[in-house]
Amino acid sequence: MQIRRQSFFTSPDFWISGWEDVNEYLDGIRTGTVWEIGRSQGGHPIRAVAFGQHEPVERRTTYSSALASGHPEDFYDPAQRTMPVLLVIGAVHAAEIEGTVACLNLAHILEHGTDLRGRTHAELHGLARQVRLVMVPLPQPDGRIRAPVRNLIGGSEDDLYYYGQGVLADGSILRWPACKRLQPVPVDAMQFVGGYYNDAGVNIQHDDFLAPQVAPETRALLDLVRAETPDCFLTFHSCGSGPFLIAPENHLSSRCQFHQVQIGALIAARHRRDGLRPGGGMRVEPRGGFYLHTALHFTSGALPLLFELPHGLASKPFSFEEILDAGLDVLEEVLRYGVCCRYAPR
Ligand SMILES: [Zn+2]
Repeated sequence: MQIRRQSFFTSPDFWISGWEDVNEYLDGIRTGTVWEIGRSQGGHPIRAVAFGQHEPVERRTTYSSALASGHPEDFYDPAQRTMPVLLVIGAVHAAEIEGTVACLNLAHILEHGTDLRGRTHAELHGLARQVRLVMVPLPQPDGRIRAPVRNLIGGSEDDLYYYGQGVLADGSILRWPACKRLQPVPVDAMQFVGGYYNDAGVNIQHDDFLAPQVAPETRALLDLVRAETPDCFLTFHSCGSGPFLIAPENHLSSRCQFHQVQIGALIAARHRRDGLRPGGGMRVEPRGGFYLHTALHFTSGALPLLFELPHGLASKPFSFEEILDAGLDVLEEVLRYGVCCRYAPR
């Protein structure tokens, strides 16, 4: 792996994002529960942390069958629980670590009353205590270990694609969206495999979800949503032009799409208010694709949200502080929506 810029490998203390630093932080959690939800293709532990009590759900049927009967409560009746459940998934594409930083700062707020900068967030803290909050800060350890950039602030698109996708046998950088034409990518024929992929070259965002065997990271997340039955889950990604929510998604019910659009608008308004320059508010997903979060939705019934945080590339600069503020704003708006209306995706 190339060191394309030294600053990509350093960060302020509040910016916990490295594989070892994140695990060390999770080891020190006292008021939450930390557990291993599975192992990556390369054999590394995938860990979750939860705050708030687990309230099991009794179900009589599958999500598909419950929708067909017009009785979604047969699959999951929120009245069985005292609190909604929000699941937050960090860097699915493991060089996109800005969401991981937001997760750990929220964990610190819940544990110690301040973020890792020492700042209080009374509203966010109060909202987070009214849900069961489950977070998977690093769901894709192989890519995180292989592409250990801590940030891409001030970088170029080439920097982003180098650490995200990697370098082909001919020395050319694999770029987006051409990278999506290969699944898995040919790891043995590549000079460097970026953080997008597990050690088998699978981009879990586009796994073969109905195959007899999926990537171990995909399996771990599917099992987690099956066990948790969250009301909503949020997957964090990052790109050069965020922050924005990708919505609505046309494979989902109109109710889900409605809630996605509302939440996207609330977050964009919040970012605008806080001077955090939303990338157009939200982006429509036009291709009708079936993604990791779509698979997680049809497994659990939960409202899926996919948020793109900014990397702060030279083309759209953001500082470390601003990126963390953007992530905490997203979490606060998503939590408030759940506390106020319970997400109600069905
Ligand atoms: Zn991504």
